[in-house]
Amino acid sequence: MNSQDIAQLLFPDINESADDIFKKYPKRMLKDGQMVTRFAPSPTGLVHIGNFFQAFISYNIAKNTNGVLFLRIEDTDRKREKVEAKKVLYDVLRRFDVKFDEYQTLDGKDVGNYGPYVQSQRENIYKVFAKKLVAEGKAFPCFCKKTEGKEDVLKLREQKFVQDDEREYDSCRELSYEEIKAHIDNGDSFAIRLKTKNQGNERIVFNDLLKGDIEAKANAKDFIILKTDGTPPYPFAHAIDDTLMGTNIVVRGEEYIASTPAHIELFEALGFKPIQYCHNPLIYKLNEQGNRRKISKRYDPESNMMFFPENGYPNEAVFEYLLNMINSGFEIWRKNNPTTSWQEFKFKPSDITAVAPIFDLVKLNDISKNVISLISGEKLYENWLDWAEEYDGELAKILKSDKDKFVKVCAMDRDGRPKPRKDIYNYKMMKEKFHYFFARPQNYQLDAGDESKAKEFIEEYLRSFKMPASNEEWFEDVKSISASLGYATDNKAYKEHPEDYKGNVAKACQFVRLAITGEKDSPTLFTIIEILGEEETKARLEQFIKKM
Ligand code: GLU
Repeated sequence: MNSQDIAQLLFPDINESADDIFKKYPKRMLKDGQMVTRFAPSPTGLVHIGNFFQAFISYNIAKNTNGVLFLRIEDTDRKREKVEAKKVLYDVLRRFDVKFDEYQTLDGKDVGNYGPYVQSQRENIYKVFAKKLVAEGKAFPCFCKKTEGKEDVLKLREQKFVQDDEREYDSCRELSYEEIKAHIDNGDSFAIRLKTKNQGNERIVFNDLLKGDIEAKANAKDFIILKTDGTPPYPFAHAIDDTLMGTNIVVRGEEYIASTPAHIELFEALGFKPIQYCHNPLIYKLNEQGNRRKISKRYDPESNMMFFPENGYPNEAVFEYLLNMINSGFEIWRKNNPTTSWQEFKFKPSDITAVAPIFDLVKLNDISKNVISLISGEKLYENWLDWAEEYDGELAKILKSDKDKFVKVCAMDRDGRPKPRKDIYNYKMMKEKFHYFFARPQNYQLDAGDESKAKEFIEEYLRSFKMPASNEEWFEDVKSISASLGYATDNKAYKEHPEDYKGNVAKACQFVRLAITGEKDSPTLFTIIEILGEEETKARLEQFIKKM
């Protein structure tokens, strides 16, 4: 009996051949340089920033080469949590507006000619190729039962493998047709293992777009290509899907480099053309001691992509930050092209940093401040409201009930300015930042010992208060009261003889700012007074006087 009979014994219901399958997946007609790439997440219930990083790189590669980006759901491992986890994944992709050329909709419709785009719906295909490998004597069934405890597994490993330093041959590779048939007749379940052709002393070289040629020990292990439940572990599904679906560049994390020799042996065994890899560094963080560690689900909330929408970071800020991590040239490009969309920034896969990027919230915030500074007041209001509708219903109500006011708040020192104010990095912080538009100040950041001076000044300011018509007029009013109360209006004179004055006019301005906002720093106070109106401004001055 030959290996073809074994294949038939194992897969009596698989009647299609590899050729039949290939007919359903015609070669893609590509122009020179067009890249076909994919995002292949395993739905886990959250989207990790490291995975999104790969997706974003793939997205850019496809975009920059006019190529194809498809989404393939790698769900063979996690059948139970699949539905919920898939929803989370699709939600994150929607929020970040990641558009795929080919994918499966959440309700199961394939868009594109290379589907199904969900691995659990491709199980038949994997079986066809597993059967082919068995028929060709390149794979074999393994009937060893899974055992429970860790020690059992270790013992089992020792018995099962002809294992020396160089290779791990599985004992089932020697089973005869009769032995296999006895197992099948007995109803025993089986996995399929690749029968490695290597002895353990071979070395191979493969190319990686970022790291160049990588030399490594060739695979010499009879690893599983089909589990007892009929599902393929990652390497087998990767080889088959990326080949059939016409991927020509595999963008994935560098944790896969170690298993690439196994993938290469599979491609060869299957008779597939090797594929170009682009292994990207993982994202790191610095701990308090300044040491690097992988960004972690456990300790770093920003490892979950939902952190960004939840905290109200604009997508552009996140994208720009990722581009910064991908290629340091982005920062210079951004400086030279301050208002151009990030979409115009082009990079080649080989330009991607080979050094692990370090996630730094401060840097993200800087980028985000810049991005937000370029948004018009009207649009910023809309974004803020959108955020509030989802995460702070009370705030949303207030923003909606007083739209005109809050559009003005959002436009302060921004619309029409050559140098717009850069102090907001996410929508979540805006309520706190602009607390004085929601309620009168409760505390004043007054310097110790200034109380009576401040009170005196604000009393005088309130007595003569009239709504200023311009920022200049506002300042002139403060200046004239300052002069009458003994504040220096000439800074040079003040610097020479501070003892002659109660303070300078800047101090006086600060008192007014404090009385109205509670804060030492704020956008242009004249604008704030305009937004609050005369009555409210006066009420705040009165409140301040009372509290002093
Ligand atoms: N499902 C794999 C992962 O999420 C995909 C890796 C790949 O892109 O090939 O890590």
